Amino acid sequence: MPARLRRAAVLLLLGASACSRNPATGQLQFGLPSDDEEIVLGREADAQVRAQMPPYDEVPAAAKLVAATGARIAAASERPELPWTFTLVDDPAVNAFAVPGGFVYVTRGLLAHLGSDDELAAVLAHEAGHVTARHGVVQLRKQNTARRSVGLFRVIDPQLRHVGGIAARTAGLALLRYSREDEHEADDLAVRYVTAGGWNTAALVRVFAVLASLPADGDKAPPWLSTHPDPALRRARTAAALGIPEAQAPTAEPEYLAAIEGLAYGDDPRDGYLVGNVFVQPRRGFMLELPPKWKVAHDRDQVLAISEDERAVFVAMPTKFTDRKAAITDFFADGALTGGAAYEGVVGGFAMASRAFALADDDGSTLMGLVAFVEYEQTVIAMVALGPEATWAARSELLAQSFASFGRISDPKLAKVGPLRIHTVVLERATTIDALAASKATPVDAATLAVLNGVERSAELPAGWSVKLPVAR
Ligand SMILES: [Zn+2]
Repeated sequence: MPARLRRAAVLLLLGASACSRNPATGQLQFGLPSDDEEIVLGREADAQVRAQMPPYDEVPAAAKLVAATGARIAAASERPELPWTFTLVDDPAVNAFAVPGGFVYVTRGLLAHLGSDDELAAVLAHEAGHVTARHGVVQLRKQNTARRSVGLFRVIDPQLRHVGGIAARTAGLALLRYSREDEHEADDLAVRYVTAGGWNTAALVRVFAVLASLPADGDKAPPWLSTHPDPALRRARTAAALGIPEAQAPTAEPEYLAAIEGLAYGDDPRDGYLVGNVFVQPRRGFMLELPPKWKVAHDRDQVLAISEDERAVFVAMPTKFTDRKAAITDFFADGALTGGAAYEGVVGGFAMASRAFALADDDGSTLMGLVAFVEYEQTVIAMVALGPEATWAARSELLAQSFASFGRISDPKLAKVGPLRIHTVVLERATTIDALAASKATPVDAATLAVLNGVERSAELPAGWSVKLPVAR
């Protein structure tokens, strides 16, 4: 079947929600799709992942190592014919995940925490196991069927309920959750692939200790933990299967560490940062002022501010448009919004089209809003503000200031920022993580440095040991 026809058939299938109730169990059941459909589904999910988490290509040796190690695992698997890709993605969170069809991702945050190619192979082999065992295929098909519109219309959700979860945006989209049985099966397959590929199987056990040592609470909790529950149990299972102790010594393999030298570590201010209530976006070269005291969250593409009472919101983000008029026409196209006064003008030296609007909230009250589309370089940046009618007049001046503040970064120093980077130092004499942190060799604290290196803070590291230090440069 030609590709276009096949795609149409898949879409028809998705639209028809090919699901039926099992007369015996009462459960909904989906037939497993063919390899071809799995690959089509996987490619769609891969495009979504890439749109939100671009490949990290700043350190070519690191991306190459991920691809090469992945290719060896794919070759050792039962499905070598899949269009496998193993991609290093630009995300500081510690995570690895896969989507059906052979698309496997590992974050730069996870790569930084590993100490050897064996550990990398262990991580990738587990994710490849989810693919070869066809975990998540049915789930992905359901997810695609239920996919909500994202983008601007998500922002102007009348109830303002869904605006807080910028961080959750990524997590909800493509990260599949697996059952415990699936996790165990992927762990068992990982043992098979790591063994067949000739890596050190002890790394399969060691890598659980590395991941389990990450802080598991608050904002810093690794997403890996939410998609891969029960690391202690899984470590015990894998150690038992291999007949080796659960406690495996840390490794610091010079070849691996050379490949990740210079890797960005932690949040990257080039993706946007705040100076007081001013949001600076160095990659795109613009800045804007947010209402003072509002809560602000941002990711690579959007910045969002929420009023203290959490009823009003301001958001700025790039759109797919290059023409402000096309963007504003599209914004009002579905008739859900009542358009108000329109205005054509210039902000920060850039052409802008803006318009007031109103919409009905679920409880019958009215929400007021203002949208502006700014033609900035090759793209159109959208700014949207929305809040209850009762407080709109009181806020409108504050919000107008935010709209009017959009412009190029005024001070070149604000654009010259960069992340901390992994730098490996070979110890000349024995020392501890505590001593290294105290010596100010790195701006990160001792606890963080210990986790990054997979050792205890007070453990003596011998002369010749390679230590990863996040440094500014
Ligand atoms: Zn898993």
